[in-house]
Amino acid sequence: MLHTSCLRSAAVRGIARSGMANSYVLRLYSSAPLRVPITLPNGTTYTQPTGLFINGEFVPSADNRTTEVTDPSTELPIARVFKAGTADVENAVKAAKTAFDSHWSTADPEVRAKCLFKLADLVEQHAETLAAIESMDNGKSLECSRGDVSLVSKYLRSCGGWADKLYGNVIDTGKEHFAYSVREPLGVCGQIIPWNFPLLMWSWKIGPALVTGNTVVLKPAETTPLSALYAAQLCQEAGVPAGVVNIVPGSGRVIGEALCKHPDVKKIAFTGSTATGRTIMRNAAETVKKVTLELGGKSPNIVFADADLDKAVKNIAHGIFFNSGEVCCAGSRVYVQDSVYDEVLEKFRQYTASLKVGNPFDKDTYQGAQTSQKQLDKILDYVKRGEEEGARVVIGGKRRGAKGYFVEPTIFADVKEDMQIVKDEIFGPIVTVSKFSTVNDVVHKANDSQYGLAAGIHTKDVNKAIAVSRRLKAGTIWINTYNAFHQSVPFGGFGQSGIGREMGAAALENYTQVKSVRMAIDAPEI
Ligand code: NAP
Ligand code: MG
Repeated sequence: MLHTSCLRSAAVRGIARSGMANSYVLRLYSSAPLRVPITLPNGTTYTQPTGLFINGEFVPSADNRTTEVTDPSTELPIARVFKAGTADVENAVKAAKTAFDSHWSTADPEVRAKCLFKLADLVEQHAETLAAIESMDNGKSLECSRGDVSLVSKYLRSCGGWADKLYGNVIDTGKEHFAYSVREPLGVCGQIIPWNFPLLMWSWKIGPALVTGNTVVLKPAETTPLSALYAAQLCQEAGVPAGVVNIVPGSGRVIGEALCKHPDVKKIAFTGSTATGRTIMRNAAETVKKVTLELGGKSPNIVFADADLDKAVKNIAHGIFFNSGEVCCAGSRVYVQDSVYDEVLEKFRQYTASLKVGNPFDKDTYQGAQTSQKQLDKILDYVKRGEEEGARVVIGGKRRGAKGYFVEPTIFADVKEDMQIVKDEIFGPIVTVSKFSTVNDVVHKANDSQYGLAAGIHTKDVNKAIAVSRRLKAGTIWINTYNAFHQSVPFGGFGQSGIGREMGAAALENYTQVKSVRMAIDAPEI
């Protein structure tokens, strides 16, 4: 029943959008529905939108192409989702531009705030479904997904709170003039997100864009589009007007590039690999777009001899194994002071052995599946390289099971700083543990990277923690904790880890530009 009615409306909309005889025939026989019922691994059934979300409705792609989305824990297909092409990007940008020009950029702050507050509430109300969708699509443990969804609602609410606090300045330029500055939105923002935190990255992108009066065309990663499409429904329900948020799942090389080059897209916000970040900058340069990038990392996590070692071990484990190691700021290089090196390594091994890897939906699962065969292969290839380079596997190092992309949490010891496993971002549950002797030694090793996203310091000496944090070249420093995100604290990279900051007040700067106004005063002596 559901399928038939969706199919009919899909065909009708398709005809209306194209106006071409051959497309008419193609679409009339389109077999893909715009919504499908899906039974989640926890037994509940929900309705998953599978169309592109353009101008406030779910529509098929212009050429009717679809792509299969799979569950990385089972390797089984979940659903077919429409795959946007460049014609769809064109439609989405047009809708976003119309919404920007006609009302959203000038909407009362209260209107934008209400939408974001309502959206945050809806995310909370749908939290269990969203978390389950995320675990099914990405493979991460349900606990991880619940944490993501919780931060999503907190962040959207925090964004809503900025709506009436976007201040400019009054600037004293002498009594013959009155000068002030205001912050204005940029226009249509192209937002390209990865597969490791699909819903969280969706919120980090749309929250600050919407509250500052921009409109959005967002491309989720092809492998993980489900939560962004589900959340598009929540945008509708929250009262976000048609065209303000558009979601176009599809290939990065095709529609990601089209967004980067489109003259009506005024800004690109990207999270993903440093290599793709470079391509995006190049493509965006043609039309001199504003670009913010949140890229890769190889973050150091430092344990001083005076740390609470049991707590430090939990933090370094969480630093690397959280979210199956698919974290841009993962603490993937651990440095332990020589006098406690053996003790920490042994505690770390024991703690790692206690982490349960497996079905994301099992109650005590800590680490779920890697997100794709491609990632599984890349990770296992690095393990092999590490062994070939002469590093020692302390624990792990293998695929777990034959079905699903599970990897054992893996610790490498006896590493040298020039090994590839110490230099490259692996993006999986693989960590190297090295020794250091002095503060200078560890600061030098920690900073010896093209990246600079995050760093961890474990010590009971507050003075040392602050002094070392000043010397580390990273956008975020965690002291006696790790991967401890907060919606008010800016996050982003030094060096080749990125440009711009997300969350907190800093994110608003990515989405506004300053306009200065200076007016002559005719009667300065009155
Ligand atoms: P990626 O290429 O950076 O993909 C991230 C997003 O960029 C996806 O939506 C992707 O689209 C899109 N994209 C790809 N090429 C593009 C282009 N030329 N123009 C515009 N958009 C483009 O990452 P990946 O290939 O999936 O993963 C490779 C490695 O990147 C990982 O192993 C990891 O090291 C790193 N990574 C880092 C992060 C992070 O949070 N910093 C996140 C993901 C991956 P598709 O849908 O076609 O993929
Ligand atoms: Mg998937």
